[in-house]
Amino acid sequence: MVELNLRQQGAFSIAVKKKKGMNFMGLFKEVFCSECGKKAGLLTRTKLIDGKYLCSDCTAGIPSYIMECVSEYYDYEDFKALKEYIKYSNETLKPKFNETASYENLHIDEDNKLFYISTGFFGEPLYLEIANVSSFDMDYQAETVKEGLIGDKVFGSVIVDLRMAIPKFAYIKVLAKDVKAKAKTNFLGTKVTYECPKKMEEFVIRFMTAWNEALEDIQQEYAQESVNMNELEKAKVLFMLDDIDDISLEDIKEQRNRLIRMFHPDAGNDSDTKYAQKINNAYEILKNAIGK
Ligand SMILES: [Zn+2]
Repeated sequence: MVELNLRQQGAFSIAVKKKKGMNFMGLFKEVFCSECGKKAGLLTRTKLIDGKYLCSDCTAGIPSYIMECVSEYYDYEDFKALKEYIKYSNETLKPKFNETASYENLHIDEDNKLFYISTGFFGEPLYLEIANVSSFDMDYQAETVKEGLIGDKVFGSVIVDLRMAIPKFAYIKVLAKDVKAKAKTNFLGTKVTYECPKKMEEFVIRFMTAWNEALEDIQQEYAQESVNMNELEKAKVLFMLDDIDDISLEDIKEQRNRLIRMFHPDAGNDSDTKYAQKINNAYEILKNAIGK
């Protein structure tokens, strides 16, 4: 039934067009922005991979290098996450950003392990965490490497290929054109090799170092978490607890006292103070864990 109606409508629009020379606009269904609910204009809207739409108001302020990826890789959930990240960038990361090095439009803060890609006059840059970089490559590509003399200039471009996990986007751009490099060997008039532009090499080294440090920090955090986790598991076994979700501080205190009494030398046990110490340590760990 519905199909028939639609077909009739379509036929009607075509008939009107023939008669009055109107365009086909009437055949396009109106779409609404999933974010704000307003009508999303045909030319300014963004279609997401799950078929949802965003109006231009709701995508304003998103840097163009990320927008390029939104229609290609994002569903609505990803878009919501990006909005959250933008808020986090403005409120938390921006105030502490302190530039230590830059190359063209890439700026880094090696101390706080942050960077951003400047977007000229188009709004606030998005501050990015180096730890979220999933791959980074910056390369000098010589345009004309042929015969020449030592010391001759070699021209080329610097190309960056950067991929982020959070927020997710890929940034593959020519960062700089007509960059000069120094010719190295060409005595036999065969092929010239070259030294990469020093400034670019320096930036790459500093970025990679900051990246490695950021990853090390994360690994250490994980390691510490797993140590804490193991200690908690041991404490739970000692206190004979399956889980601690519904346990109160009183319960733990009571269990500690019971255990101390059980292992107390006066109770006829040979156990020494080592046990009491173990029980008290486990008690502290459990107390902290339920406090969270
Ligand atoms: Zn909207």
